[in-house]
Amino acid sequence: MSWVDLHSHSTVSDGSFPPEAVVRMAANAGLDALALTDHDNIGGVAAALKTGRLEGILVVPGVEISAEFQRGTCHILGYFFDPSDAALREKLDTLQRARAERNPKIAMKLQNLGIDITYKEVQAVAGSEQVGRPHFARVLMDKGIVKDFNEAFDRFLGKDKAAYVDKFRYRPEEAFAMIQGAGGVAVLAHPYTLNLSDEELAALLKQWVEWGLKGMEVFYPDHTEEMIARYERIADTLGLIKTGGSDFHGNNKEGSVLGDCGPRGCPSMDVVKQLKQAP
Ligand code: AMP
Ligand code: FE
Ligand code: FE
Ligand code: ZN
Repeated sequence: MSWVDLHSHSTVSDGSFPPEAVVRMAANAGLDALALTDHDNIGGVAAALKTGRLEGILVVPGVEISAEFQRGTCHILGYFFDPSDAALREKLDTLQRARAERNPKIAMKLQNLGIDITYKEVQAVAGSEQVGRPHFARVLMDKGIVKDFNEAFDRFLGKDKAAYVDKFRYRPEEAFAMIQGAGGVAVLAHPYTLNLSDEELAALLKQWVEWGLKGMEVFYPDHTEEMIARYERIADTLGLIKTGGSDFHGNNKEGSVLGDCGPRGCPSMDVVKQLKQAP
């Protein structure tokens, strides 16, 4: 049986390993395909594709776009887009600028809470690439202010917590359009973070399918068997492709293991074919 991991992060966003290393680890784990899906950034895709060719593993160009959604967290995965598409790159640039404006404000909020932290320290932890909240969490842990990522997000970094700062996001339909405009397919990541009931989710997705959504991440480490069964039903009703991934972040996310897509395991290569052939 083939198996694929369609959700992973590198140092280009908030993962702890460079794109080349993530691809090598996926090949060593025996995965047949890997999608690199850095947050709002496709800077690692070229290196990942190249390493994939060397290591003999199929690498799917990917991205995970943070979209606007009041009730919870909305992440839209994009696959098989053209990485050189100018419009997509420009929109991702806008998101990267919004992030760069937000980040120092988080540091300031933490300072105002009496925490001894500088934005330079956070940048150092992130390396040369894009800074994300897990990097703040890492510094808070290193300083002994929190014991783990959960506490960092629960007390300071999570939505509406003490050091939370909002940033510009595109609406979900704009995310679908930017992915589709570049020849790619849009998939809803970890649907539970939208914070909706099954009825609400089904109704919303019906609209989103009309707007271009093609798939939903059904297989995911945080999903229970029961959640997977519910999401499968909703996906089948709406004709959505059932994808899955580990959301691997290396050491920047507790318990994320490449190739661990939750209780039902990772999807097969068939899902990659479905994504590639999606109209
Ligand atoms: P950012 O894109 O910089 O706003 O950071 C969001 C990232 O933080 C997510 O993609 C996760 O990697 C991480 N994250 C969000 N919430 C939590 C949480 N409660 N615990 C651990 N990591 C989280
Ligand atoms: Fe992340
Ligand atoms: Fe996500
Ligand atoms: Zn992710």
